[in-house]
Amino acid sequence: MDFNDSPDEAAFRAEARAFLDEHAPREPIPQYHKEKVEDDVILPRHREWQRTLYAHGWGALTWSKEYGGRGLGPIEQIIWNHELGRVGLGPSLFVAGLGMAGPTIIAHGTDAQKERYLEPMLKVDEIWCQLFSEPGAGSDLAGLACRAVLDGDEWIVNGQKTWCSGAQYADWGMMLTRTDPSAPKHKGISYFLLDMKTPGIEVRPLQQMTGDAHFNEVFLNDVRVPDANRLGPVNGGWLCTLTTLTNERMAMAGTEGMFTWSELVEHARANGVRMDGATRDEMARLFTWVKALELLNARCVTKLSRGEIPTAESSVMKLALARIVSKGTELGVRLLGPEGLLRTGTWQHQWLFAPAFHIAGGTDEIQKNVAAERVLGLPVEDRSDRETPFEDLSRS
Ligand SMILES: Cc1cc2nc3c(=O)[nH]c(=O)nc-3n(C[C@H](O)[C@H](O)[C@H](O)COP(=O)(O)OP(=O)(O)OC[C@H]3O[C@@H](n4cnc5c(N)ncnc54)[C@H](O)[C@@H]3O)c2cc1C
Repeated sequence: MDFNDSPDEAAFRAEARAFLDEHAPREPIPQYHKEKVEDDVILPRHREWQRTLYAHGWGALTWSKEYGGRGLGPIEQIIWNHELGRVGLGPSLFVAGLGMAGPTIIAHGTDAQKERYLEPMLKVDEIWCQLFSEPGAGSDLAGLACRAVLDGDEWIVNGQKTWCSGAQYADWGMMLTRTDPSAPKHKGISYFLLDMKTPGIEVRPLQQMTGDAHFNEVFLNDVRVPDANRLGPVNGGWLCTLTTLTNERMAMAGTEGMFTWSELVEHARANGVRMDGATRDEMARLFTWVKALELLNARCVTKLSRGEIPTAESSVMKLALARIVSKGTELGVRLLGPEGLLRTGTWQHQWLFAPAFHIAGGTDEIQKNVAAERVLGLPVEDRSDRETPFEDLSRS
């Protein structure tokens, strides 16, 4: 494992740093997981920043130049995320589009789809959301039941999606539907690009523990979707889905903007009176986790630089990240003493948001399954339902 930047990586880091030093917003951009903030406050700030990035050619690092990106690889993306964290900037609010829908359309879309969707996505003239999960299909996403039936050159969609982040303001959604129930579950799915203003779509907010409502249930009643909005072949949507999920995992692997160790240390110094032995112990244990995550990150970069995909490493990183955010924010609240009981502060808000990191983008248990099978070589989970027709599966 090599911890140092190669000459090319160092040159890229210097270029990114110079750009950010000149253009990064002086006022921090609000983040949902850090504080209570309304959509009409947060959206314009994130949009303005993305448009600045776009104007200077930094709008999407890993998209090819042909589609307005910078044509760089995952290592540069990791360096960029690191540099963003250094100037106090967190993840983009538009990750569903820039980090997930965009790469999927580039990989599987027709020329007409690339022409139509990519530029407005980069300039945030159009915002995207992800309509994958359903009440009965989350970890086992291929068990989804939302039905699409062909009628002429349109599909009629009926079903329910859930936990759809940003659907309340999204213009477009990546939507998975069941188009052949007689096929095994992975083989009867089609992927659509859904105009969220189509009649028959109802978006209902879901309130979280923080009091905010950033994700939604989405009900689809006789929603008509043109066949031209299908991404990939009929019943061949699972391959496109894997592209989206791989990109989602990559987008969620780093700690930048999710939790900052130095902020916790500063907070502990300011509240030294509450630093009893047990708290010191836990701070030290957390520090070892933070360092372990940095080492895992270095291992991922090394693998990427050899042209390998760090699948198991990114699962372990996501597990570690969720644990760090939960423990770090819990300590942050504890250091506040009785004031921690109030729901108003940023530590309390982050702590109430932290459970989401154990679920979103693949739960802890699913990441542990990956680690068990691919790192420890334990027996694989029973997947005997893979060849059974979807309609014959017993479903709850
Ligand atoms: C903040 C947030 C934002 C989200 N945004 C979106 C979004 O924009 N679009 C979208 O489509 N979805 C979104 N999701 C949904 C997310 O992808 C799912 O919640 C996640 O995949 C888990 O699915 P589930 O909630 O149905 O839980 P389930 O899959 O029903 O799991 C329930 C429990 O069973 C465990 N479990 C399930 N299967 C196994 C197994 N094989 N082995 C061991 N344990 C297992 C799980 O770990 C969990 O503890 C979001 C979730 C969160 C928290």
